[in-house]
Amino acid sequence: MRKTIIAGNWKMNHTGEEGAAVLQSLAARVTAKEGMEVVVAPVFPYLASAVQIAAGSSVTISAQNMHWKDTGAYTGEVSPAMLVDIGVTHVIIGHSERREYFNETDETVNLKVKAALSHKLTPIVCCGESLEQRERGEMKVWIEGQIQQAFADVAAEDMTQVVIAYEPIWAIGTGRTATHEQAQEVCAIIRHKIGTLYDPSLADGISILYGGSVKGGNIAALTQCADIDGALVGGASLQADDFMDIIDHAV
Ligand code: PEP
Repeated sequence: MRKTIIAGNWKMNHTGEEGAAVLQSLAARVTAKEGMEVVVAPVFPYLASAVQIAAGSSVTISAQNMHWKDTGAYTGEVSPAMLVDIGVTHVIIGHSERREYFNETDETVNLKVKAALSHKLTPIVCCGESLEQRERGEMKVWIEGQIQQAFADVAAEDMTQVVIAYEPIWAIGTGRTATHEQAQEVCAIIRHKIGTLYDPSLADGISILYGGSVKGGNIAALTQCADIDGALVGGASLQADDFMDIIDHAV
């Protein structure tokens, strides 16, 4: 059975105090639902205290990015070894905002995926098409290309540790959610592609999330779809009540 994962990406939001209050509330309210994992991704400076606040609860902590090297002259960067050292378990890789504003490429996504896996960090690997690509009929080829490049040279045994998030760029922070039919279509394309790159039974075990304006009101329809195993949530993960609404209604 695949895990259902509800992951909150706080992006560049919340002071230490604000984030701690939200996390304390989540840690107290999230109960261990069988087969469900709740993940929160605060900004780098507060990760270590987030790990401490979440300790012993059913919430785990993710970074929003990392470098692929362990140490070195990479000013401003944070390594996978450092994330593991402070108790972080997940890392978001290749979010469209990083691709758009920080020159993240399929090549660096692949380097980061391999580095995360070698450190036993769970990579939440993002892919997604723009509205223009969708309207030009290029969505399938684009998504398949992103998946192929993200996992180039990743061994099959490591793939069991991977989480994939389908996030159509046109649905992120826009209030415009993909319909559950649209999201299901692409998540099935992703699963099929993994199946052809590895094998269908391996693909069947991978959790694929949808991201893009998810809220309490649309999570049930999304997670009822055959190939959607949870959500990567931006805006609606910032307040404990909104995020709990999603967690409580995920199927
Ligand atoms: C995201 O940034 O990953 C995201 C899905 O944002 P939002 O939920 O705000 O659309």
